[in-house]
Amino acid sequence: MPVAEDCLFCKIFAREIPAKEVFREDDIVAFEDIRPVAPTHVLVIPKVHIPSIHDLTRDQAPMLARMMEVANRIADERKVDRDGYRLVFNKGPQAGQSVYHLHLHLLGGRAMAWPPG
Ligand code: 5GP
Ligand code: ZN
Repeated sequence: MPVAEDCLFCKIFAREIPAKEVFREDDIVAFEDIRPVAPTHVLVIPKVHIPSIHDLTRDQAPMLARMMEVANRIADERKVDRDGYRLVFNKGPQAGQSVYHLHLHLLGGRAMAWPPG
């Protein structure tokens, strides 16, 4: 499923809905979360419409690695790498997933609790 109609993040990728982009290449975009829960809160998404991390296939592994690499690079740029940061995929309602297009949260700039709430 390359693009899903009425998917918010497909529309952000296509620039049909504006977002504060911090990185873009052919298959991956990163942008500021609209409701940040940490001083650094960036979402990294692929172009391809994958509903969740649970739907990932083996051939998509390089794309997943690239998403993480992009998140790591943004963490470096924001200088949150030394104090630490969190990379999160929420899957399903109990984990709090609200947008069903794969996205990696980069959270940093404050101490975070473990276990998560
Ligand atoms: P989830 O809860 O699915 O793991 O994460 C979805 C994230 O998308 C939330 O943190 C939410 O604030 C963010 N979000 C929802 N709608 C928009 C939007 O229109 N623009 C941006 N930039 N972020 C959004
Ligand atoms: Zn989508």
